[in-house]
Amino acid sequence: MPQAKLLIADDEAPVRTVLSAALEEFGYEVRTAEDGFSALAEIRLEVPDLLISDLHMPRMSGFELLSVVRRRFPSIRVIAMSGSFSGDGVPPGVAADAFYEKGSHPGLLFRIVKAITQRERSLSRESPSALAPIWIPSNGHDHAGEPYVMITCTECLRTFPQVLGDGTGTIQEANCVYCCSPIQYAIVQQQNPALPLDFQRKPGSGSPTLPGVPNVSF
Ligand SMILES: [Zn+2]
Repeated sequence: MPQAKLLIADDEAPVRTVLSAALEEFGYEVRTAEDGFSALAEIRLEVPDLLISDLHMPRMSGFELLSVVRRRFPSIRVIAMSGSFSGDGVPPGVAADAFYEKGSHPGLLFRIVKAITQRERSLSRESPSALAPIWIPSNGHDHAGEPYVMITCTECLRTFPQVLGDGTGTIQEANCVYCCSPIQYAIVQQQNPALPLDFQRKPGSGSPTLPGVPNVSF
């Protein structure tokens, strides 16, 4: 059986180097990307079996990348990694199959990769919900002072700016400026540029929930 094809997305070059070298030693074919946009470009070239993504990256974060991948490429298994969460459970709201705490021994990542590439995906997780919105952090203000977000179309994967009206915390709809596909999205306010508000792991809360956003499912 051929080894699984992996894609590692991380903005830190040493992390990419160490993890790809470690996983190549075990015979995996590994590609790397420096952020979410580069990762989507690699996925368009060839769909990997498994994506290992840092959650905090410039330009397109792992949070957004994973929600796009889960909708657009549901066959890709996903491991989220971060130094901002601890433990081995997937942080709430993150569209991933498993979680690797950055800085843990690479042998632990290898065990997660091995387990996840060998196990059958449960069917209930294969079908992306057509109604699940992508959720994205507010990016700032455009030249006219209007708040806007960058939305990545889940159909054509191109990214465009969308000026926000009221309704932070509610699910809104926009049409892709390129392919006109309807896209539902929800805005997450940030206090720290790297972390959505209230998006800390809470002990014992296993279900994915987003503060202020009703019925968000992945
Ligand atoms: Zn589009």
